[in-house]
Amino acid sequence: MQRFHNTLSGKVEEFVPIEAGKVRMYTCGPTVYDYPHIGNWRAYVFEDLLKRFLLYSGFGVTHVMNITDVDDKTIKGANAKGVGLDEYTRPFIEAFASERDRLNILPADHYPRATAFIPEMVGLIKILLEKGIAYRKDGSIYFAIAKFPAYGRLSKISLEDLRPGNRGDADEYEKESVHDFALWKAPKEGEPVWETEIGPGRPGWHIECSAMSLKYLGRTFDIHCGGVDNIFPHHENEIAQSEAAHGVKFVHTWLHCHHLIVDGEKMAKSKGNFFRLSDVLARGFDAGEIRFLLLSTHYRKVLNFTDEALQQARTSRNRIRNFLFELRHVERDLPPNPAAARAIGEARTAFVAGLEDDLNISEALAALFELVRSVNILVARGALGREDAGRVIGFVKELDDSIMGCLTGEVRARPEIEERPDVHGETPVLDARLSALIEARQKARADRNFRLADEIRGELLAAGIVLEDTKDGVRWKRVGPAKP
Ligand SMILES: [Zn+2]
Repeated sequence: MQRFHNTLSGKVEEFVPIEAGKVRMYTCGPTVYDYPHIGNWRAYVFEDLLKRFLLYSGFGVTHVMNITDVDDKTIKGANAKGVGLDEYTRPFIEAFASERDRLNILPADHYPRATAFIPEMVGLIKILLEKGIAYRKDGSIYFAIAKFPAYGRLSKISLEDLRPGNRGDADEYEKESVHDFALWKAPKEGEPVWETEIGPGRPGWHIECSAMSLKYLGRTFDIHCGGVDNIFPHHENEIAQSEAAHGVKFVHTWLHCHHLIVDGEKMAKSKGNFFRLSDVLARGFDAGEIRFLLLSTHYRKVLNFTDEALQQARTSRNRIRNFLFELRHVERDLPPNPAAARAIGEARTAFVAGLEDDLNISEALAALFELVRSVNILVARGALGREDAGRVIGFVKELDDSIMGCLTGEVRARPEIEERPDVHGETPVLDARLSALIEARQKARADRNFRLADEIRGELLAAGIVLEDTKDGVRWKRVGPAKP
């Protein structure tokens, strides 16, 4: 049974979909006024983990993510550049899609664009006008939050200080200035205008998600996600619009991902710590390492994005990749070892149990590393045959293909053998004992004594040395601390 933290109740709850076996899920997508930054990707990777785990658990998932291509920020950007909205937003939409693929995020089933959903938004606003929940003022249409008593339930804001008639036109605002918000904005110099049944103008930001989710997922659906920044006002307003219009519960479970900070500080262009995916790639980290880092901090914790954290992600991920690499070189034929099957079974149970507990990724990864540890012991003892090694590889690959999405992908190309000087500026050297072991293994292989060769490989592995057999001979690299 999956349990997720529901922002609405403030509790971890058992997840029961509305329709057995099916999950309808909406995640707020990019506002395409700029390239996505690494903080955006953190939220999208978290949503990907959630979705992949639901799929792995046997649910069918319908996933919708909106593209906000008209709002205060996109209009401002397009005007500053002197181009139309479409021309202005296109490169950002393209960058979003290609970076999403780079991070191995499963695409949503639908990516509705706000500019293509004007009639649906107008339809919803019409209902709110007819019900007397929305009102007109100076050519704009506002949502009267006083008419929706449940307002504030998601974000737990207090409405005590709310002054009647207090309203605002900005798409984004702070909790302190809670007010009636714009559903439809009156025509303004320099802004795009749509001629509609409710009059000329353009939509506010919040109404699009209510209109799009209605179209694809219905009045009530299972899961809505976003970053904690979305809770107020955006998601609060979505609930107000949808529930006031339809009189039924909008979303059962709300999941929100916490902030990503850089070197302990909030990311900001002015601070020079504002990173796109391409910036991090340019620093020599690959997309799999970045995905591993974004995944490996629990979604309800602040993620501190630092060079050390990236290095650590690289090390952890390489431990698994080297492990797989090693397993591919197990050559001996042995009967199945029950210890290997047991290790796989325990890892699977613990991995799934971790994710079932509100996506506790630390528990899930610990299960994977425990598998690495226990199987390495079998390898070191010469107690793992080729078939068992294949089963372990298959299991890790299954978890990776379905959930992790960053462990095995590039392993086929073989992890890089580090022959360059190590971090201390010295070419790594092996002590005489390990060098002699490598030579002894070469001789064993030449003699076709694979049992002995495997044993020696295991011994080297236990000492943190991974071997690679190439056409030019054997190469080695250190994957763990040098042991005395
Ligand atoms: Zn939204």
